[in-house]
Amino acid sequence: MTNAPPLRDDCFVMPRGVKWTPVEEALEKLHKSLKNITKTSVIPVSKCCGRILAEDVVAQTNHPPFSNSAVDGYGFALSALPDKGEIALKLTTGRSAAGNFYFDKVPAGYGLRILTGAQIPDGVDTVILEEDVNKIKDIIYFNSGLKKGANIRAKGEDILSGSTILQKSKKLSPADLGVLASSGVKTIKVYDQLKVAIISTGDELVELGNYNRKSQIVDANRPMLKAQIEQWGYTILDFGIVGDEEALIESVLNEASRTSDIILTTGGASAGDEDHISRLLSQKANLQTWRIALKPGRPLALALWNDIPVLGLPGNPVAAMVCTHIFAFPAFSFLAGAGWLEASGINVPAAFSKNKKAGRTEYLRAKLNADGHAEIFNSEGSGRISGLSWADGLVELKHNTESIEKGNKVKYIPF
Ligand code: AMP
Ligand code: MG
Repeated sequence: MTNAPPLRDDCFVMPRGVKWTPVEEALEKLHKSLKNITKTSVIPVSKCCGRILAEDVVAQTNHPPFSNSAVDGYGFALSALPDKGEIALKLTTGRSAAGNFYFDKVPAGYGLRILTGAQIPDGVDTVILEEDVNKIKDIIYFNSGLKKGANIRAKGEDILSGSTILQKSKKLSPADLGVLASSGVKTIKVYDQLKVAIISTGDELVELGNYNRKSQIVDANRPMLKAQIEQWGYTILDFGIVGDEEALIESVLNEASRTSDIILTTGGASAGDEDHISRLLSQKANLQTWRIALKPGRPLALALWNDIPVLGLPGNPVAAMVCTHIFAFPAFSFLAGAGWLEASGINVPAAFSKNKKAGRTEYLRAKLNADGHAEIFNSEGSGRISGLSWADGLVELKHNTESIEKGNKVKYIPF
């Protein structure tokens, strides 16, 4: 009767006698072990969305390039007008419109019809809005009280030629393309796109539609993680499914390390009989850390294979996705030249209550309700992949947290 151990009934209880690395420590180790890629290319601005700047960018022109009117109205020199009462101002002939400027000087004491975006001609320092005047023939009537410079966008008030507009390591957004174009920048230097090799491991895995025996399951990790990684803007090198055989895994790792910047494997990362990735990495590479105090997904292998980092994630799709967001995301952004960016979150009230064991970080599939409070998926079962698509993100419960009450602030990390 004394041979059997007590029931634990929690597959995520941290076995004793093992060093469980807290998430923060694992992230720090991961960060320290990586070197970012330094190859760069010069590309046209039109092709740069999603790429990462390899140097600061300096504006080649002012924005606006010349002072121009912010409204449709009438321009004049304010100092030539009375500063009290109603004003009657005679308009000079001609007008200034966007793309069709007025090149003469407007005489003091006269006004000029001026339209939005038109260059402010000499002799004008103020523009009055068309709706604020009464025009009778060639005279406009309006009340005094305008400030000098009203309704004028000054040359360079937004961006000064020669100033730094975007900084090295920035991942370029659609809006950045607008800024670059408005600053006269035609080409920029970016880091070469990160190449991520992806490998699923497990004798049970098949591609969708390829069943030939009952014990097989469809590889869910590759389609999911490939899509996620491509959405982050990286290039995928897909090495398919590899069975649980060390020689096979070894040759795929060799190939992947020749062509990629980082290798992401799923499956076989724990310490079981069939966990060939962790065994191989500890025998043939300098496996650094592989037991992380987190739920779901505690096995995580990190090693260099022919100098290329290998992140060995758990096979369970929920754990694989969580670890991709928590560990792979900052590793990729660092390698790609964008700096070490951990999955960022916002603090929101919990729409749930829950007890938790201290000594591990937990990630719960979550989404925000209409009040902006975080709801969690109704099952924590890490095999429940449906909860991943139900969720819009993760709630992170810190290492030492033991209980969460409704309304307590929790960190919500959107996908
Ligand atoms: P492992 O990490 O290899 O021990 O796998 C843990 C669990 O995840 C097992 O139930 C595997 O069958 C499952 N699994 C591993 N890889 C995948 C995958 N690519 N797609 C779906 N399930 C997987
Ligand atoms: Mg396996």
